[in-house]
Amino acid sequence: MKIHEYQAKLILARYGIPVQPGRVAYTPEEAEIIARELGGPVVIKAQVYVGGRGKAGGIQFGDTPAEAKAAAAKVIGMNIKGLVVEKVLVTSKVDIKEEYYLGIILDRQTQAPVVMVSKAGGIDIEEVAATTPEKIIKQPIDMRWGLRPFEARDIVARAGLPHQTIGAAGAILSALSKAFIECDASLAEINPLALTADGKVQAADAKILIDDNGLFRQKEYAAWAETEESNPLEYEAKQAGLTYVKLDGDVGIIGNGAGLVMTTLDMVARVGGKPANFLDIGGGARAETMYKALTFVARDPQVKGILVNIFGGITRGEEVAKGVIMAQAELPKGMPIVVRLSGTGSEEGKALLKDAGLDWGKDMREAAQKIVAAINALG
Ligand code: GDP
Ligand code: MN
Repeated sequence: MKIHEYQAKLILARYGIPVQPGRVAYTPEEAEIIARELGGPVVIKAQVYVGGRGKAGGIQFGDTPAEAKAAAAKVIGMNIKGLVVEKVLVTSKVDIKEEYYLGIILDRQTQAPVVMVSKAGGIDIEEVAATTPEKIIKQPIDMRWGLRPFEARDIVARAGLPHQTIGAAGAILSALSKAFIECDASLAEINPLALTADGKVQAADAKILIDDNGLFRQKEYAAWAETEESNPLEYEAKQAGLTYVKLDGDVGIIGNGAGLVMTTLDMVARVGGKPANFLDIGGGARAETMYKALTFVARDPQVKGILVNIFGGITRGEEVAKGVIMAQAELPKGMPIVVRLSGTGSEEGKALLKDAGLDWGKDMREAAQKIVAAINALG
């Protein structure tokens, strides 16, 4: 389960991690009042369940209450990666000198939570991991005793944080790991961990995911769930009877059967693409379901092309083809679609696709390659 930055910071504060004071505003007027109460410059931060708000314009600054009001007016109502901003965190602006990264994720390989620390914070950690992985120090947490303070200090020191921050940053890291374990988190991140001009270390941003399987005993946090806002597309899909999960890439994916769809996601990733979603149309789908699924997937503004992967059984190939052809007319002009059909009715389906000028792959790999190439060709 996702929670907002202001909620994650509330959790951090409970564990003694320093965060700036702040409150949530739903209107520019409220933001102005909060800014006045806080006194001094503030940051207006979009509270939506996505990262990279800064780059998207969802983080604004205001030196006076009037400026805070104007900044909030800009951010509230803004659309960030498909999510409309309904509330902002108004928080005292920190005078940041340096930005570090602290994170804890669950790691399959070590079967433990793994701590990650980097001196290169503020920016996208995936980017650091891809380009300069040596800048990230990783260490699994031994669940028998958690991350002990001396271990935490050792990790931040190895990550190259400046000498005078080791004590404070180490204390924050060991508090973060305690929070991670006790909240049943699947991810806890402080990015940036800010070194302020006056030498203090504090969490300027926070992200926590809570494991859904732990919600039964995390009653307080479970009550923070905001299904509709967390993902309007997923919410609507559920209402429409579609099994849909939103992902971060640009290749729309539709298949029949959860296993086949998962395999399709892997295949697209393997040939260099980034899946935009998971959508399982289930067994025995008719043309209408296919039509509904395609038009639904295309509503995600990140989707640039769609791959349909159907293994015919009780789902018939010609029904799939009919649905794809029906939907094509309503998709954004020039949006590539590649279909992979096999099994029952696949020959009939391919004949229909051919007449309609639609492309297919002879197998899953070829279909994945074709859609990724078609999207890349769009530039
Ligand atoms: P994100 O883009 O969604 O990760 O949002 P963040 O809260 O991490 O903010 C993005 C960037 O804005 C940070 O890396 C900082 O560079 C900057 N920023 C955020 N809060 C403050 C602040 O209080 N003071 C200063 N100087 N910069 C801030
Ligand atoms: Mn951040």
